[in-house]
Amino acid sequence: MTVLASVATVVASARAEVSALHGELVRYGLVAWTSGNVSARVPGTDLMVIKPSGVSYDDLTPSSMVVCDLDGTVVDGDLSPSSDTATHAYVYRHMPQVGGVVHTHSTYGCAWAARGEPVPCVLTAMADEFGGEIPVGPFAPIGDDAIGRGIVSTLAGHRSPAVLMQNHGVFTIGKDARAAVKAAVMCEDVARTVHLARQLGSPLPIPAADIDRLYDRYQNAYGQRPASRE
Ligand SMILES: [Zn+2]
Repeated sequence: MTVLASVATVVASARAEVSALHGELVRYGLVAWTSGNVSARVPGTDLMVIKPSGVSYDDLTPSSMVVCDLDGTVVDGDLSPSSDTATHAYVYRHMPQVGGVVHTHSTYGCAWAARGEPVPCVLTAMADEFGGEIPVGPFAPIGDDAIGRGIVSTLAGHRSPAVLMQNHGVFTIGKDARAAVKAAVMCEDVARTVHLARQLGSPLPIPAADIDRLYDRYQNAYGQRPASRE
């Protein structure tokens, strides 16, 4: 296989994966209208695949996805990329271990973001997935690198793959796009549960040593071997 043919193959695979994963945002109730987006780094390249801007989820297809370089410039595609493309590109440039990025305005995550309040780690499922609280990133204007800078500065050195950008919404990262979608689903799930717990009392914190043990077990020993734990 020539180099060009192999790039075409991985791009086609990423187009199909990113298109299909948007269906998960709908299935789990994380999006209204066209407000959330998924992207994937194309393995072995300096390219990313992202949702086109303003297209209904039902109308997304692999061929309607947009391929951009890691500065957010369109390389291949007939439609304009998501208005959040610069943010996704910034994350890929500055977090080389990240292979997927998701953004949603999911209801309960946004409720915490609107207050600028981290979701405290009060459930074992949170310790498993996030390794602690889900942190809040700064308020940032839309349209330049400010959101990307806020995501990277908040998540760098943090175990959480999710950040609540203040007054805005949820951004998640993962080793690939599917992992980032999973983090977005889990973030909304625990944001909802902890919100509900708050209604009748004060949720009990989990001691830090127990959070560490839970996180280590889930990240290193949980699930099927050697396939993905997801
Ligand atoms: Zn947004």
